[in-house]
Formats: sequence, C-alpha cells, structure tokens
Amino acid sequence: MKKIIITIDGYSSCGKSTLAKQLARKLDYVYIDSGAMYRAITLYFLQNRVDWTSSPAVVEALHNIHLDFVCNSLTSLSDMYLNGENVEHLIREMLVAEKVSEVAAVKEVREFAVAQQVKMGARKGIVMDGRDIGTVVFPHAELKIFMTADITIRVERRFKELYEKNKNITLEEVKQNLELRDYIDANREISPLRKADDAIILDNSHLNLHDQLELVMQWVEDAIMAHSS
Ligand code: C5P
Repeated sequence: MKKIIITIDGYSSCGKSTLAKQLARKLDYVYIDSGAMYRAITLYFLQNRVDWTSSPAVVEALHNIHLDFVCNSLTSLSDMYLNGENVEHLIREMLVAEKVSEVAAVKEVREFAVAQQVKMGARKGIVMDGRDIGTVVFPHAELKIFMTADITIRVERRFKELYEKNKNITLEEVKQNLELRDYIDANREISPLRKADDAIILDNSHLNLHDQLELVMQWVEDAIMAHSS
C-alpha cells in the first residue's frame, strides 16, 4: 500500500504521542517525536550553561549537538540520544519542560531541528507529532491532524504521568507549565503553533484511545485513496 506522511500537531499534553505511537505501530510506520528534539537541545543548553538569548552562543552550541533516535528493543520505540547518550528520561523532567518553549522559539534552534525532521520524512511512511509539523515541516503531508482537548483533562493526564516519577509535583505546577508552554508556542514569531488550513481537528477530551484510533485509521484510508491516483 502507498505510504504517506501523517502529521499530528496540537497543544501540550493532548495525547499526541500516545496516538501517534499506536498509529505508527498499526501501520508499520516510523514514529518521530519532534518535541524530544527540542527537549534534548534544551537539556544540552542547561547542562552546558548556553545562553540561548545570544545568537552566536546558540550557533556555536548547535555545532556540538548530535541528535539520534535509537530503537529501544524492550519498548520497540525510539529513544532520544544526545551526543551518544540516551536522554529519554532526562528530557521529560520538569527542569527541561520549564525552559523548552523558550529554547524552541529561537530561530537557529528551529532551523537546526526542522532540517533534520525534513530528512526523516524523505521515504514517507512516517507519523510525526509536534507543533509546526503540518504547517512548516511537511506542508504537503497527505494527512494532517490537529489535536486538542479540554485544559482540565490535559492537566490531569500530565499530572498522573509526572506524579509516577516525582511525588512532589503539584497539579498547579503542571497547569502553569502547560498554560505557559501553550502561550509561548502559539505566540512565538517563528512557526507558531496553529492548525494548518487542511488539518482535521481531533478533540479527544472524551474519546478513548481505541475510538481515536478507529477514527484516524478511517482518515488514513481516505488519505491514501485520495492520493493514490
Ligand atoms: O511535544 P512536547 O510537549 O514534548 O514538546 C516540548 C516543547 O517543544 C513544546 O512545548 C514546544 O515548545 C516545542 N516544540 C516545538 N515544535 C515542535 C515540537 C515541540 O516548538 N514541532
């Protein structure tokens, strides 16, 4: 069957990656978590005290950053590697979440990440999630999805995830982080988060994963049909 590019954009903690992973597995496509790249760059900047408000400092630092997705044989998913080190867990920490949207708004950082993302889509058969995938990275993708969900539901989902690892985290902290990231992501000058004109909206506030997958698989079939002539 013809392989296509599927983009999933949307607000923080909408369940984009959960859906994207399952979709990729069902279709035997590659799943790419573009947010992990911005998180890994942020981790590097924090670890190496890079001042991301200084363009020369950012350019120099980016020369020393090598990002890879490496398949984890236990989970069958890709882990994010930063300069040869598996940083999959470190990049999910609050310290990174607090700064990632500031770093992701930097022009040079976006150019660096987008250039690599575009290459990953060259052979199609890919599901990539993020904020600007349908608008900037793959503007000609065959299927674009824009996910959204009620803020209270998003906060609860994210809180549950983080609480597993850190019992000191509060609901209020998580809410503030999500709202701040959404605000910065949607209002930045370069590639702000917005729905592509031809994206289909998926509000999963009250849809379980099974129902979301059923719906999206239908969209995938329709997109393949529409692009196979
Ligand atoms: O998807 P995730 O929440 O892990 O992304 C972390 C952050 O990376 C987002 O809040 C956003 O600032 C940035 N990001 C982005 N463009 C993307 C993916 C993520 O700016 N395509």
